[in-house]
Amino acid sequence: MLAYLVLLGLPSAQTENLDYSDFRRQLIAGKLDNLAIGPDIIEGSVRASGASDPKTGQPVPARRFSTVRVYDPDLIDALEGAGVHYTGTIKSQTAANLLSWMLPIGLLLMFSGYLSSKGVGGGFAFNPGKSRARIYSESKTGVKFADVAGVDEAKAELSEIVDFLKYPQRYQKLGGRIPKGVLIVAAPGTGKTLLAKALAGEAGVPFFSISGSEFVELFVGVGAARVRDLFAQALAKAPCIVFIDELDALGKARGIGAMAATHSEQEQTLNQLLVEMDGFDPNSGVIILAATNRPEVLDPALLRPGRFDRHVALDRPDLRGRLDILNVHAKNVPLAGDVDLKKVAAQTAGFAGADLANLVNEAALHAARLGHARVDASDVDEALDRIVAGLEKRSRIISPDEKHTVAYHEAGHALTAQFRAHADRVAKISIIPRGIMALGYTQQLPAEDRYLLRRSELLDRLDVLLGGRVAEELALGDISTGAQNDLQNASDLARQMVRQYGMSERLGLATFEDVRSPFLNPAATAELKPYSDTTAETIDAEVKALLDQAHARVRATLEQHRGLLDSLAKLLLERETVDRAALDALIGAQAEDPRPALARD
Ligand code: ADP
Ligand code: ZN
Repeated sequence: MLAYLVLLGLPSAQTENLDYSDFRRQLIAGKLDNLAIGPDIIEGSVRASGASDPKTGQPVPARRFSTVRVYDPDLIDALEGAGVHYTGTIKSQTAANLLSWMLPIGLLLMFSGYLSSKGVGGGFAFNPGKSRARIYSESKTGVKFADVAGVDEAKAELSEIVDFLKYPQRYQKLGGRIPKGVLIVAAPGTGKTLLAKALAGEAGVPFFSISGSEFVELFVGVGAARVRDLFAQALAKAPCIVFIDELDALGKARGIGAMAATHSEQEQTLNQLLVEMDGFDPNSGVIILAATNRPEVLDPALLRPGRFDRHVALDRPDLRGRLDILNVHAKNVPLAGDVDLKKVAAQTAGFAGADLANLVNEAALHAARLGHARVDASDVDEALDRIVAGLEKRSRIISPDEKHTVAYHEAGHALTAQFRAHADRVAKISIIPRGIMALGYTQQLPAEDRYLLRRSELLDRLDVLLGGRVAEELALGDISTGAQNDLQNASDLARQMVRQYGMSERLGLATFEDVRSPFLNPAATAELKPYSDTTAETIDAEVKALLDQAHARVRATLEQHRGLLDSLAKLLLERETVDRAALDALIGAQAEDPRPALARD
């Protein structure tokens, strides 16, 4: 890589890639200068600090840096506040595309010219995989688990790997199978990269990282070569951690690719990754962590045993998690006495870790601008307003009113499940938004894998699906669009019970499966119904009856336990997540029998 860069006279070898949060922090600290602000990238220099490198004793020279620009309405204020010199760079999309085409071609031409002029000739000793490989490596990340807050479950799951990296002999002796690959599934900004670095930091091993999107290159074969290079480097430095961010960019299920050209390139890269993962010895001490926020698009081959067969999920932090994260970041900032981080945590539902880091930063910046000696409550409020405005644009913030509705809705699901003898046990209830669609969720864990379901179980399932809607009716006297997905599922289930499982009394044992064939045009299928119009009406009536009866049953249950519904919703509003133990405690406190035997079947 160096050879080409030196050839072109680019100083990129010195370029440091900063996370945006680091960029902000260093900007405020006055460490940056000469910024070129592009539409996607901000570049500039990190001032020479005058300090010396602890290892070499040499003074640290000025370096170039670049950071990927994120949406930040206050950037200009921050630049002004920091008093740096900055310019804008215009780069239209087409120009950028053209450049990325021309640059490699230019490199090729120059390099082959260089080779022949030197008389190297012969074998074209040119490894394109190394040409622009941007594998970042850090021998020590310096990040510890303590720096990653609010993700205790994930840390617990990863601590075994730390142990393995520290004491590999112990595991090899026992013959335990250590995972090669761990997939971290999380929304952007929830600390995936931070967690991967912390894992390396805790184990005291080197950290290699690359982003999936960087694998996807224009030259066929480059991505695959780069994967090979990455694994070669990692194996040479083992034990170590390799982190592949945005795995979905290179690991999309084969066949989904948009353009044929990028498609075959992506496929080759993915195949190479699979080959490399299968090729190395699990005891070699290389652990591959990969991150994605779209696990559903990944090629199933990636998830097979021996590849990314362990999964760790990071949710957006709940109230306590947010407080922990705020505490981590507030450590670096002098706070005035009137700042109540607990209150701030309560005001930041829906924020990811990166948003909270940003908040602390913004507050510090605001304080600096106004010449405050410490960050006070007004600085925090100001920063909060700005960040909330930014997040609202991305519709990540829920209003208190909506939160109230969601709390009752989820409490309704959970309590209905609780009072149904055949429903799966509730494991966790949450009103933290997940993804774009779900504003909350109630997680039920089945006691065992099921292949057959009895009618009584299906009826209970219907009830649980309707629980959210009924709770809204009861508690709020109004209903919201939030139950749309539940109602869809409930209707589908009722329909299946009537048409496929022969569970309707009026229709008896007959099944009325749709005749659907992809070869027929959909308009024709209506005529192929194997039953009369009267039967069709009966089916509709039976489906409706099932749903109406379920609705009445759930209403009775939730009316009977109205006090509990209110207190569960209240607890959810306070804590945002309620686990099994807290739910049991609540029910115990209300001195009710949690699972009265139902006299229904
Ligand atoms: P991701 O990789 O999930 O997009 P990052 O790990 O890059 O997110 O997080 C960006 C920054 O946000 C981190 O450098 C850190 O400052 C902050 N951050 C995110 N999550 C956490 C967390 N759980 N605890 C502490 N800081 C966090
Ligand atoms: Zn629901």
